[in-house]
Amino acid sequence: MLDKKLEAYKKKERIPQDTPAKYKDEFPFLKEVDSFALCNVQLQIEKAFKDHFRNRKQFKLPKFKKKRDKQSYTTNNVHNSIRVDFEKGLLYLPKIRDGVSIELHRAFEGKIKSVTVSRTNDGKYYASILVETGNPRNKVVEPKSKACGIDLGLEHFATVTNDFGSYKVEHPKYLHHGEERLRRLQRSFSKKQKGSKNSEKARLRLARQHTYITNARNDFLHKLSKAIIDENQVVVVEDINVKGLLQLRLAKSISDSGWSKFLSYLKYKAEWYGRTFIQVDRFFPSSKLCHHCGYKNDDLALHDRMWCCPACSETHDRDVNASINLYHVGLGRPEVTPVEQALVDDRIPNGLPKKPSCDEAGRSTFCG
Ligand SMILES: [Zn+2]
Repeated sequence: MLDKKLEAYKKKERIPQDTPAKYKDEFPFLKEVDSFALCNVQLQIEKAFKDHFRNRKQFKLPKFKKKRDKQSYTTNNVHNSIRVDFEKGLLYLPKIRDGVSIELHRAFEGKIKSVTVSRTNDGKYYASILVETGNPRNKVVEPKSKACGIDLGLEHFATVTNDFGSYKVEHPKYLHHGEERLRRLQRSFSKKQKGSKNSEKARLRLARQHTYITNARNDFLHKLSKAIIDENQVVVVEDINVKGLLQLRLAKSISDSGWSKFLSYLKYKAEWYGRTFIQVDRFFPSSKLCHHCGYKNDDLALHDRMWCCPACSETHDRDVNASINLYHVGLGRPEVTPVEQALVDDRIPNGLPKKPSCDEAGRSTFCG
């Protein structure tokens, strides 16, 4: 179907609308799967083309999948065609009468809507079951702290301030070790002769390590975001211009640290648990403001980890100070919300021309 559509597209002809049933004679294996699985693929292709015509920049033309990539199919539940036997650990799918033995993560109640079965490129199979339940909310914990401010950084993953004080969250260590192993496996894979058995083995090992790192990172991000949402009523973060930062050299460490994923987890969890999630304007100078007196240190450079406020002579740890400012936003303290906008995102070293400043006293010095 994709081939036909792409061909018509290239010739600038009308894109044909056909159904999978047409192909069953030519490709008898299509008769082995249930019709919903085929129907869903048809819908996906049609949506992909529709999206492309709507917005060519954002949605590229659909491509063929590679055999090595993740493979998946989705099928819908009709007349109990999909069931889970929790006691026996079996998943019943259309056309698979005996059921598939599964490792269940948790039991659930409600009506099964659809199942997506996928095989990752390291050869493991997963089934994601979509269930409709009356009460999708998880247990909501009373927040212990009114607000919290989170500063995301390169040195530490995050610096958090709430009613009880400030703390720093380190980048998870196992990710670092995992990445070393990843580089080794990558080297080993690229040295193997293409298409050989050893190359295939090395590819599998590499794919498994990729999966391990992705899972470990997601686990870390989920647990941290859940803990923060549980503890605080209002969560304030910076609106990070991830796209802009990625174009700079910081790209690797940012894409590794999973900031954008973390923010999206915080956002939807806040919604789930009835918390307020605030992303401040990215020109809010969270690092430059003295949280004590509100003085704005325009000369603060990216490498200044500590600075001393020339106005009130408080000594600041850069990240802690930033998170306190964000915390104050969460508490709704107007006196630290400045009207003046910083000209530059202070994480970008020499990113944009700086406003000339005559106040040399503001230059950061560590006078602790
Ligand atoms: Zn100050």
